[in-house]
Amino acid sequence: MLAIVVKKDNPVLLCKSAIRYNMASQGDNATPQLKLSQFWHTTFDDIFQVFNPDEWTLEPTDKEMPSDWRKFRDKAKVKFLCDCNNSWTSMMGRIIFWYKKSDEKDNKKELKTEEKGQKDEPKETNKYSLRFRLYGQQCKICEDGTFINPLWYEDEVKRVLENVHKKIGKDFYDFPQEDSNNSKRHGRMRQSHDSRRCQACQEGQCHS
Ligand SMILES: [Zn+2]
Ligand SMILES: [Zn+2]
Repeated sequence: MLAIVVKKDNPVLLCKSAIRYNMASQGDNATPQLKLSQFWHTTFDDIFQVFNPDEWTLEPTDKEMPSDWRKFRDKAKVKFLCDCNNSWTSMMGRIIFWYKKSDEKDNKKELKTEEKGQKDEPKETNKYSLRFRLYGQQCKICEDGTFINPLWYEDEVKRVLENVHKKIGKDFYDFPQEDSNNSKRHGRMRQSHDSRRCQACQEGQCHS
């Protein structure tokens, strides 16, 4: 029997939730229960609370968002673990964020909460959505065309969320421009990026 030994430095085994995340828009709209989604959400909540009283929500998506969404692309060191037990590391773990102000339909739903509120207008709350998509890579042993979902390290999740937060701060809140933090978790790559097996490359989203 094979046992997976989780070394301390390994990405916390968040893969199952990553899989769930990628499938979230295929009819699974339940609140993700697993660790990864919790980590993404608690980190997101921490970082994005500076935009209060505006409300930001984070959701995974498995497709690109339309062009009326603003887009921010980042990459991270990620790990892939195939069912065949092949595993590999990539410094090109692509993530794309899309963000925009929620449309009026969504805002109306919230009138209820305002009813119990005061007549004198509190500071206006705007609602915004942030979506993200994690891109997969194919296993070179299986060669079956399936894209394996990436495993993300917690520090990399935090770094990309901070980066998109800076970008949004600049775009929507007139925060001073700050450069993205591009210092990924350390990695020594013996091979160059395998574009043929990269989902983001195949969709023309990998190279910035
Ligand atoms: Zn495989
Ligand atoms: Zn690529």
